[in-house]
Amino acid sequence: MYPKVILKAGKEESLRRFHPWVFSGAVSRIETLSGGPLEEGDKVRVVSFRGEVLGVGHVQIGSIAVRMLSFQDEEIDGDFYGRRIASALRLRRELGLLRPDNDCFRLIHGEGDFLPGLVVDVYGDTAVMQAHSAGMHVDRELVAEALVGECGHFLRNVYYKSENTLPFNARLGAKDGYLFGQGPAQARPLAMENGLKFYPNWIEGQKTGFFVDQRENRALVERYASGKRVLNMFCYTGGFSLYALRGGAAKVDSVDSSGKAVALTRDNVALNFGDSVSHRALAEDAFDYLRRNPEQYDLVILDPPAFAKHQKVLRQALQGYRKLNAMAFRNIAPNGILFTFSCSQAVSREDFRLAVFSAAALSGRKVRILHQLGQPADHPVNIYHPEGEYLKGLVLFVE
Ligand code: SAH
Repeated sequence: MYPKVILKAGKEESLRRFHPWVFSGAVSRIETLSGGPLEEGDKVRVVSFRGEVLGVGHVQIGSIAVRMLSFQDEEIDGDFYGRRIASALRLRRELGLLRPDNDCFRLIHGEGDFLPGLVVDVYGDTAVMQAHSAGMHVDRELVAEALVGECGHFLRNVYYKSENTLPFNARLGAKDGYLFGQGPAQARPLAMENGLKFYPNWIEGQKTGFFVDQRENRALVERYASGKRVLNMFCYTGGFSLYALRGGAAKVDSVDSSGKAVALTRDNVALNFGDSVSHRALAEDAFDYLRRNPEQYDLVILDPPAFAKHQKVLRQALQGYRKLNAMAFRNIAPNGILFTFSCSQAVSREDFRLAVFSAAALSGRKVRILHQLGQPADHPVNIYHPEGEYLKGLVLFVE
């Protein structure tokens, strides 16, 4: 069957605890049938120094040498992907995410769905697929077929979007485009989250075209929004703004440094509310806007991009969070509410809390934690892979 990656003595322990990564330092030697080298994305059997097969995975050049797909000695084919996808779909159904008023969700969340290197978000009849590993790129057609096989009753298109997610030095030459179908019939497809409509744009947008991971936190904003003056900072497509407006906010200002994001937010607000609401969308840098402090707000949402993409820039990132939150604490009206987030995987819950804590202390305001938030259940964390936890948030009452 597959070539063998043989581990050094003792290095099988983490695999026995189902951790899905094999680091390059754990590999003793590689045995291929031809005696030649492995190619990026090849499937391999991982074997202990005693010769026991520990499972099967995708190989990649880099510090993570193998991403485990299975802890059994099995074939990785269309049926395998079909079984994994069927089980992921079953979970999303159980979570109540497939409804007439909600047709977008994350179907595959990498290690959290036992498919390391693969992300799939669904928007109505389109699945947007991202490969983060060479192996998933190699298997993209198999995965797309399995997606259609398992989700054919609602899925008409599979869009592959991996030009920017694959390791650059792997030189895989990925091209974005449809692997199945030609795209939705509408010029501007629509999707629905908890009854709110929006235009997902997987072709030009960031990530897969929308951030489905804030669904539940947006619903919490809706509960607090009534009568409030709201600032949605880093609004992107305006997700939080839509919920705040539906929740009866007195007014909402959406701010993002990207002109495209601001235009999308305006479109999404018009799509749901016409011009019946008090909403403004502004293209401006967050720090500049908060420094200017042009308005008083009762409810502020801070959902910045990941400040730390890796461990090396952690300190700098924590300073960024502290600075940003300190500015928000200065601006928020008495008895205001702050929703503050970090989506940096490298920043732990404790680190983030500490950064927000120091920002609060700087402001001298009385601050209490009302909620501690995270990622929703369609972004599950594999318990053997705590690295899968990335989104954290705090809801604070600022006197
Ligand atoms: N809250 C959004 C997701 C935010 S993603 C949602 O619910 O969908 C982060 C956004 O921050 C991106 O749209 C990006 O354009 C914007 N951004 C990045 N740096 C910024 C800055 N310095 N000032 C303002 N916006 C910024």
